Amino acid sequence: MNTNKTRVRFAPSPTGLLHVGNARTALYNWLVARHTGGKYILRIEDTDVERSKEEHESQLIEDLHWLGLDGDEGPEIGGPHAPYRQSERLGIYHEHTEKLLSEGKAYRCFCTAEELEAERQKAIAEHRPQIYSGTCRAITKADSDTRAASGKLFAVRLRIPDRPLRFHDIVRGDVEFSSETVSDPILVRSSGVPVYNYVVTVDDALMEITHVIRGDDHISNTPKQVAIYEAFGWSVPQFAHLSTILGSDRERLSKRHGATSIASFREMGILPEALVNYLALLGWGAKDGTSETFTPPELIAEFEIERVTASPAIFDFDKLHWLNRHYLKLADPARIMDLAWPYFEKAGLLPARSPGDAAIRSWFGKLIALFLPSVDRLEQLPEKTHFIFRFDAILAAANEENATILRSEAAQKVLAAFADRIRAWEDPMTPEQFKLWMNEIKAETGAKGKDLFHPVRIALTGAHSGPEFDKLIPIFEEGSRLSLPEHVLSVRERVEQFVSA
Ligand code: GLU
Repeated sequence: MNTNKTRVRFAPSPTGLLHVGNARTALYNWLVARHTGGKYILRIEDTDVERSKEEHESQLIEDLHWLGLDGDEGPEIGGPHAPYRQSERLGIYHEHTEKLLSEGKAYRCFCTAEELEAERQKAIAEHRPQIYSGTCRAITKADSDTRAASGKLFAVRLRIPDRPLRFHDIVRGDVEFSSETVSDPILVRSSGVPVYNYVVTVDDALMEITHVIRGDDHISNTPKQVAIYEAFGWSVPQFAHLSTILGSDRERLSKRHGATSIASFREMGILPEALVNYLALLGWGAKDGTSETFTPPELIAEFEIERVTASPAIFDFDKLHWLNRHYLKLADPARIMDLAWPYFEKAGLLPARSPGDAAIRSWFGKLIALFLPSVDRLEQLPEKTHFIFRFDAILAAANEENATILRSEAAQKVLAAFADRIRAWEDPMTPEQFKLWMNEIKAETGAKGKDLFHPVRIALTGAHSGPEFDKLIPIFEEGSRLSLPEHVLSVRERVEQFVSA
């Protein structure tokens, strides 16, 4: 790639949430700019007034910011080619239309919607391609001016040259479309609204975009855009059309496959660096062919658009979760604690954060450290740690698997011995004391291994497997002394409840 002054853009339409496909497009553009020391521009394509919403635009910008994909130029920060919202550039498009009309590169089309529809139906009946017949192509300039002046409505069409339209695509190689498949495209509708293909080209040219990187759903639009560049005498940028993202069933990725919006991944507790890493791998691979974990700086160093593959990428939720676990482990514990807190608050397990909650924070830090390795996403933490906050001894005793374990004589003896000790114990329980007792109980009852530990674990946690007691006991004991929305039971309280259940 010629990296001289690379300028790329992400040009979303603010008509809904940012989804993985568009987020990957944004990321690849951003990476190309960062890798080459170029500029990454955000342009809002809001000419569809019915569907474009301000709240979608602010959500888009927020999501991009969360992913770390801030622009060098854009509607919020401005830049040398402002404005960066298409709805604020209508005057620019109008001027350019006038220029094309006066040079004869474009012409007014007075065909009505009914006439065009009749033409289309005829083409269908005759098994011909449904393209514009060119009725208004031959209208003279004078005639056209007269009709326009008399108030007749018209669209503006580009005169497509009678030769194939070619462009080079970095991902797909040389692409060619015959002029018959393109016909004379509309640039401006009779309502006066300019169409996507037209405004995107005017903007890309005026904003000096060197590489147009976008989804391959736009590949059939590209010859029309090439024709527009040529009509203005502008140099054509390089194109890179990214493959479609599919679900595991090889159908186009959609809501059916699960969450696909960036906001929903954030809400689940996927870290932005995990999502960025994952999106980067959707259609691109490391030079060594094996590395899969890349922090944003590593991606910037490694990413080359030339290594993007043309074959469709399959979205793999398990892999995203695997990467998220990787980054959860690497992340600063204080950051994870801040991110995890709201999930507990929402579940009614933690109070709202306040400056005076140092003791809760320190305890919560231990809780997170213990349970973080067992989740894919932060949203799973309250569920995983539920037994710490809300211990239901009756439910634990009634559980079939537990009941089978507890029925044995050895289990009964172990529990009784443990209960005797804890009842007679005045101080807080410590892991050391616990170990000592378990050794005594082992000698006393002859139970060992599972027979020794499972009954006690069930009595304390409600399940026969879980995290190590060394870490768990301080969480129970310290938690019981905190003022939390739900009282955390101490070891003694747990055993007492369990034995009486
Ligand atoms: N607004 C278009 C879209 O969201 C942009 C396409 C392009 O990048 O040219 O699909």
